[in-house]
Amino acid sequence: MKKSLCSSCGLCSNLAWPKAESLQCCVFSNGWLGQRERRLFGRERSLDDPVEMRFGITRERFTAQLKKPIEGAQWSGIITRIATKAFEAGLIDGVVTLQRSPGSHFFSTPLLAESLDDIAASKGNKPVLSPVLASLGNAHRKGLKRLLVIGAACHLHVLRDFMERYDYLNGMEIMTVGIPCVDNLDRKEFHRVLDRISASPSTAEHMEFMQDFRIHIRHRNGKIEKVPFFSLPDELANPDIFPPACMGCFDYLNSLADITVGYLAGKLLPDQNRQWVLVRTETGAKLLALIEEELDRYPEFGKWECKRYIKSTAGQAIEAMKGRQKQYRPERNIPLWLGHLLSGLLAAIGPKGIGFAHYSTDYHLIRHYYYIKYRRPELLETLVPRHVPLILKEYGLPL
Ligand SMILES: Cc1cc2nc3c(=O)[nH]c(=O)nc-3n(C[C@H](O)[C@H](O)[C@H](O)COP(=O)(O)OP(=O)(O)OC[C@H]3O[C@@H](n4cnc5c(N)ncnc54)[C@H](O)[C@@H]3O)c2cc1C
Repeated sequence: MKKSLCSSCGLCSNLAWPKAESLQCCVFSNGWLGQRERRLFGRERSLDDPVEMRFGITRERFTAQLKKPIEGAQWSGIITRIATKAFEAGLIDGVVTLQRSPGSHFFSTPLLAESLDDIAASKGNKPVLSPVLASLGNAHRKGLKRLLVIGAACHLHVLRDFMERYDYLNGMEIMTVGIPCVDNLDRKEFHRVLDRISASPSTAEHMEFMQDFRIHIRHRNGKIEKVPFFSLPDELANPDIFPPACMGCFDYLNSLADITVGYLAGKLLPDQNRQWVLVRTETGAKLLALIEEELDRYPEFGKWECKRYIKSTAGQAIEAMKGRQKQYRPERNIPLWLGHLLSGLLAAIGPKGIGFAHYSTDYHLIRHYYYIKYRRPELLETLVPRHVPLILKEYGLPL
C-alpha cells in the first residue's frame, strides 16, 4: 500500500487527545478548501472571478512594509509585529509557532511563545516541514484561552478541521496568520539541496525564491548570492526532491488564514522589503489594525495577464511529473551567465506584481495537479479543489 501524504503538521504528536482523532483531521485525507472554506466564509470562492479563484476570498489586499523593519525577520517582519502587538494588547495569551533549532538557521522546533522574547525568537523562515501544531496540546494543558497560530496552509486546514470536529479547543479563541508556502523541503533533503544551489552553503543564513526569477541566498557577511532558476543543476528539476505532501498542496496562498502575509505580489526594490497582505476575515482586519500605523502601504500593481509565460514553462513541468524514468544530471543545463541574462530579461519584460502572483499560483497548481494525477491518481478526487480544473481549462490542458 502507498504511504499517506504527511506534511508533519504536528497535530498527531499531541498527547492531550487520541492520535486517531488528530489523524481524522488530516488535510491529505479530507482535501483542500471545499467545506472548510464554506464554513469560514459562508461560501466557497467564486468560480466566476478569476482573481478570487487564485488568491482566495479576501476583504482587502495591498502591499506594505513596516516603517521600522525587524532585524532578522524574513521580510520586514509584519508577522512578528502582529504577534507582538496582539500579545502586548492582551488579545492573546500565547502564540503557536516555531523557533529556530539550536545551531541552525533553517531548521525549526515547535514553540508556544508566552512572552515578548519568545515571540521575537520566532521570526524568520524555516524552509523545512515543521510541526507547528505540536504546541497546541501544550496550550490546551496550560488552559490558555486566547491563541494566535502562525502557520502554512496545511497547518491551518488541519487546525480548522480539528476545531470543527472536536471540543478540545472549545472556549479557546484562536486567531490565525498564514504564510504562503511552496517548494518546502524535508529536513533530510535540505542540506543536499542547499549544497547544490549555493557556492557557499556553510555561510548561508537566509534563502528565498524571488520575483526576479532567481534564488536569493543571504550569507553571514551580509552578501546576497543570486542563482537564476534557469541555471539550477538539472537534478534539482527532479520533483522527488520535494516532499510528496507539498506536491499535493492546492492552497499556496493559505486561504483559510484570517490574514495571509507573503511577498509574492510586492514590488522588488533594492533595500526594501515590500510584502503582500491579504486580509481575509474580520479577525484578520482586527490583527491588521494593530500595526496599521506602523506600515507604509502601497496598492497592488502589475498586469494580471500571464498566459504566455505559463504556456512556455508548464509543459516541461508537466513532463517532469510523469514518471521516475528520467535520469537527472548534476550539471547545470544553462550556465550561470546565460541564466542571469534570461532571469534579467524575464524580470524586465515578464509578469510583475499581481501578474507574478497569478503566474506563480497557476504554475504550482498545474505542477501539483499533474504530480497527483500521474503519481497518486487515487488521491485526485479528494485533494483537488473545484477551481483547479477550470484553471487547467483556461490553458487548454487536459484533465
Ligand atoms: C517554505 C516557505 C516557502 C515560502 N514561499 C513563499 C512564496 O512563494 N511566496 C510568498 O509570498 N511567501 C512565501 N513564504 C512566506 C514568506 O517567506 C514570509 O514568511 C512571509 O512573507 C512573512 O514575512 P515576515 O517578514 O512578515 O515574517 P516574520 O516576521 O519573519 O515571521 C515569519 C513567521 O513564519 C513562521 N514560519 C517560518 N517558517 C515556517 C514554516 N516552515 N512553517 C510554518 N511557519 C513558519 C515563523 O515562525 C514566523 O512566525 C514562504 C515561507 C516558507 C517557510
